[in-house]
Amino acid sequence: MSNITTVKGFKDILPDETAKWRSIEEKARNIFADFGIREIRTPVLEKTDLFRRGIGDSTDIVEKEMYTFVDQGEESLTLRPEATASVIRSYIEHALYAADPLAKLFTIGPMFRRERPQKGRYRQFHQIDVEYLGYDDPRADAEVIMLLIQLLKNLGLADVKLEMNTLGCALCRPAFRESILSFLEGKKEDLCEDCRRRLNTNPLRVFDCKNTGCRRIITDAPRLLDVACGSCRKHFDVVTSSLTDFGIPFFVNTGMVRGLDYYTRTTFEITTEFLGAQNAVVGGGRYDGLVKDLGGPDIPGIGFAIGMERLLSLLPMKSEDFAIHPYIFIAALGDYAQKQAFSLCHRLRLRGIPAEMAYGGKSLKSQMKRANKLNCRYTLIFGDRELAAGTVELRDMRDSSQVSLSYQTIEETIATKFGEEQTHLG
Ligand code: ATP
Ligand code: MG
Repeated sequence: MSNITTVKGFKDILPDETAKWRSIEEKARNIFADFGIREIRTPVLEKTDLFRRGIGDSTDIVEKEMYTFVDQGEESLTLRPEATASVIRSYIEHALYAADPLAKLFTIGPMFRRERPQKGRYRQFHQIDVEYLGYDDPRADAEVIMLLIQLLKNLGLADVKLEMNTLGCALCRPAFRESILSFLEGKKEDLCEDCRRRLNTNPLRVFDCKNTGCRRIITDAPRLLDVACGSCRKHFDVVTSSLTDFGIPFFVNTGMVRGLDYYTRTTFEITTEFLGAQNAVVGGGRYDGLVKDLGGPDIPGIGFAIGMERLLSLLPMKSEDFAIHPYIFIAALGDYAQKQAFSLCHRLRLRGIPAEMAYGGKSLKSQMKRANKLNCRYTLIFGDRELAAGTVELRDMRDSSQVSLSYQTIEETIATKFGEEQTHLG
């Protein structure tokens, strides 16, 4: 019988890797606390309509990437392809705005999109997601971007590029849409099938198309920034000048529209040349109409999502730096010694001292081999005979020096030593 493996595009995160993930999450949580951003956890499964309405019917995600199925109760459900729609669903469902119209929220977890798996692109991937709700001031946009840049800095990520654009608002977007439509009129035949089909529903999608023909056509298209209304222009100016005040470099990319329909005004991406074709590590933007579209009050929002897998691939983190090693290994020879070792090992662990031992009547040589493999700081060695005499050997695994210690007080001796070395290290 053949082995059962993971589903294509889904990945295990093995013990050598998990500490890196935790360290990123911890750094994120720390900075979120500084900015007053609180955690929210929503289900990975939602009603399909949430994403159809939230992300937009004519987006790649909704058209072809969602894991959607009908459950036994004949309800269409979808594994969340992104977090924003779910966070807002929850915000509305629990009327969080009633208690406080301003909410800064974050969530960390798996997202699901049925894309073609390749480097940096998986079918289950993870995001660190931040959403600010109730903030319409352009300084909130700047705050969100500044916190993101600081987080990437704290993580040791250099050489990234911040790309910014504005997508306008309900006032200036419709006219822009018309001008894109008339620009594309007559070029229809040269567009890819997807773009041709979407011309009527969402002609802006052509900007986000990966097809080279479409890319070539769209280069000369009008840009929203050129036709933005006064208040959108002013909004964008305050965002960008706030970034400049803090010395944060950015590039205005007027051709960036992002793959989700809900964005308005500020949109941004963090890209890097080290990711190849999958060059975006963060995507974000403002979505002033989304809360209302999803049935809530007219509340503005802005947020971003960091792709964890792409982030990890960029960070110079080594598994060894996160490895955990027992402080002490107990090598016990003989039945009585093993019994004593078992009890001592447990007592040490209960005191918060990482301890390990080998079960079964293994030879001293094999136990020392195990201690070495685990990279223990010390090994405590005793057999039935040593216990009868009341002394045990403590071996320093760094310089192989050995001292004899009284067995009676060994637990305290080790605890004191551990305490001193911890303070010394800390
Ligand atoms: P792309 O243009 O690469 O498809 P996207 O615009 O679809 O990205 P967003 O929806 O903005 O991506 O999601 C934010 C981030 O999540 C991306 O910048 C990326 O780092 C990550 N991401 C998106 N899709 C995947 C995926 N299939 N596998 C791994 N990471 C992903
Ligand atoms: Mg995508």
